[in-house]
Amino acid sequence: MTAGHPTISVVAPCFNEEGVLHELYRRISAVLNGAGESWELVLVNDGSRDRTPEIMRELRASDPRVKVVDFARNFGHQIAVTAGMDYAQGDSVVLIDADLQDPPELILEMLAKWREGYEVVYAIRAERKGETWFKEFTAKAFYRIIYKITDIDIPMDTGDFRLMDRKVVEALKTMREKHRFMRGMSVWVGFRQTGVKYVRAERYAGETKYPLKKMLKFAMDGITSFSYFPLQVATYIGFASALIAVLGIIVTIILRLSGSHAFFGQATTLVSVLFLGGVQLICLGILGEYLGRIYDEVKGRPLYIVREALGFGEGER
Ligand code: UDP
Ligand code: MG
Repeated sequence: MTAGHPTISVVAPCFNEEGVLHELYRRISAVLNGAGESWELVLVNDGSRDRTPEIMRELRASDPRVKVVDFARNFGHQIAVTAGMDYAQGDSVVLIDADLQDPPELILEMLAKWREGYEVVYAIRAERKGETWFKEFTAKAFYRIIYKITDIDIPMDTGDFRLMDRKVVEALKTMREKHRFMRGMSVWVGFRQTGVKYVRAERYAGETKYPLKKMLKFAMDGITSFSYFPLQVATYIGFASALIAVLGIIVTIILRLSGSHAFFGQATTLVSVLFLGGVQLICLGILGEYLGRIYDEVKGRPLYIVREALGFGEGER
């Protein structure tokens, strides 16, 4: 055991990950012990309903470098990562998925870059294994869309798997927004950033904790936290339909004066009313997405509630 704070904190958010925890600990400790680094592993239990919290405590009992943050309920992946960063004490913090899709061996490459002077080292997925074409396609499309419409340059095909210097972590800790998109936030703060490539493995055990619904919410959080583009779309559509309406008026007048009977009947009216009604409702919905997020911020609730935190000193909070 090293006194004081470790060089590396590895933060892993866990939601129903009983099948992977032992292997996660084994792989991470093998890599970091092998490299002779001082480290801690911060496991955040995000309200799991399986044996995850028990296994975390077992791991901690056998190795005090394992620390546990136990949430009072499920708060979501991005919040769990945030809590891990709040508690982590290392000079550098690595965010990693618990399911071993992010290979712990890559941490050594990240450390090397960090020691060269980079303050954020993110992992770029050069290839994804064992994922459905649907997930691969939607993920690719999402990263390209968000790259286009946000004001920050989020690197393509990167997840949360990254190493951050203490300075970066402290900067991120001051950003307490409720709807969090960590991979965007860690670009927003600036600092010297670089990437390392890796092949994303298959899940070690269990199944994805990101069903389509959570994926969509995550995508919306990413877009709304870094872009007003969806709000501006309403303005563009407004101008476009006003322009079409003016052209329509002119065309109708010309046709009427020349004695044509085109555009008579209800179908035209019905279709255009329904269309514009639809467009208006969509725009209202987009407004609502932003409004709801503002409401969540204004309420000022804490990001998460911790039932128990083990291993962080001060009488075991
Ligand atoms: N996760 C979490 N809370 C949730 C959902 C997921 O802490 O509500 C964790 C999960 O345990 C895993 C990581 O977030 O460590 C990524 O989730 P998953 O591997 O299921 O996502 P995928 O790789 O399929 O996108
Ligand atoms: Mg995964």
